[in-house]
Amino acid sequence: MNEARARLVTEYIEECWHTMKVDLYNHPNCYCTKCGTSGYGNDCRTFANWNDFGRIVEVLQEKEDWEKFLTYAHYIAPQEVDFGYPVLCGSDMAGFSSWLFTNPARFCNLVGEWLESLEKKGE
Ligand SMILES: [Zn+2]
Repeated sequence: MNEARARLVTEYIEECWHTMKVDLYNHPNCYCTKCGTSGYGNDCRTFANWNDFGRIVEVLQEKEDWEKFLTYAHYIAPQEVDFGYPVLCGSDMAGFSSWLFTNPARFCNLVGEWLESLEKKGE
């Protein structure tokens, strides 16, 4: 996932997209200039693991966006972007679900694409 998309997803789940600054006089030796989180490097989410996947699913449900995202992923994205899913998953929700839930990086990326599509539409 590119940085702009990762930042967008991070903001969607209402977390800080850290801007880490090195501070050699302290331990840990990096801190975020926005939220103050300290660490040893860039601790932003990678959106390539099950932990990040799970957090996004939680937020989609909390914000009641799950249906909207699913509609995008199931019907719209296959027509608009080449994201590796065999076109015409159409009515096969079981096949679609197993495709959607077997690769956290792919899922997170698709959520990012959905958010970008909302930005384009101005929502
Ligand atoms: Zn931060």
